[in-house]
Amino acid sequence: MKPLFDLHTHTIASGHAYSTLKENIEAAKERGLIAMGFSDHACTMPGAAHPFYFGNFKIIRETISNIRIYKGIEANILNYEGSIDVKNELASKLDYVIASIHRPCIDSGTAEENTQALVGAMQNPFVKMIGHPDDSRFPLDYEELVYAASREKVALELNNSSFCPETTRQNCRQNALILLKLCRHYDVPVIMGSDAHIYYDIGEMTRSEAILQEMDFPLELVLNYHMEGLDYVLNQEPLSQEDSIHSPSKETVLQNV
Ligand SMILES: [Zn+2]
Ligand SMILES: [Zn+2]
Repeated sequence: MKPLFDLHTHTIASGHAYSTLKENIEAAKERGLIAMGFSDHACTMPGAAHPFYFGNFKIIRETISNIRIYKGIEANILNYEGSIDVKNELASKLDYVIASIHRPCIDSGTAEENTQALVGAMQNPFVKMIGHPDDSRFPLDYEELVYAASREKVALELNNSSFCPETTRQNCRQNALILLKLCRHYDVPVIMGSDAHIYYDIGEMTRSEAILQEMDFPLELVLNYHMEGLDYVLNQEPLSQEDSIHSPSKETVLQNV
C-alpha cells in the first residue's frame, strides 16, 4: 500500500526549512500523493512566521496541480496543561493543528507532566494530531497517551524524520515500538508524517513503513493508507470501516493494563 497523504510538512516560512510551497506540491505530485498539508511552525519557535502568514491562507486554492491542499500549523505546547501558541481565532480558520513538544519552547517535566501536556493539548478541539510523541528527552506515559488519543480522536504521529540518523530526538524507534504495540492492542489509529523540511522529503515515510512492517502492524490502523483516514484526522468523523477503529471504554483499557 502507498501513503495517500502527508500532513506534516514545512516550507521556508518555518525559518529552518528550505523549500517553497510550490516546490513541496511538485514533490508531493512526484511522490504520487493525493493530498498534502503544510504545517509551518507557530510563533514561539525561533524564526517562525508571523500569525499574519497563517491568517492569509484564504488566498491559497484548495487544489493546486491536482493535489488537494490542507492548510495547517504545527503549534508549540507551552506548559504542562497543554496550552498551545495558536489562538482559537486563528485555529478556527485552519484545516488542522498539530500540537508538538519542542525543546526551545518547553522544558521536560516528569513523564506524568509531559503526558499531561499532550493530553491537555488533545482536549483543544482544533488539535487533530500530536507530532512526534517519540523523544526520550521528553519521557511519556504511553498507555495514558494512547488512551487519551482514542478518547479525543486525535491522531498520534509516526514521524519519519525521527527515524533518520541525523535526528536530535532520542530513542525514537524504541518509543515508537511501545506506542505501536499499545495502538495495536487498543485498535487506535496512527498517522505517518514526513516532517519534511525540504522538498524531497515530502511524503517520505519509508522508515516508518519499515517499522510497521517489521511488527506486522495492522494497515487498517494506518490513516495514510485510506482516504477515510483523512476524514478521521481532519473532520473527526468516524471512518467508514467503523469497526476497525473504535474508542475503547475506560473499563476496557483498565482491564487490559
Ligand atoms: Zn522544524
Ligand atoms: Zn515538530
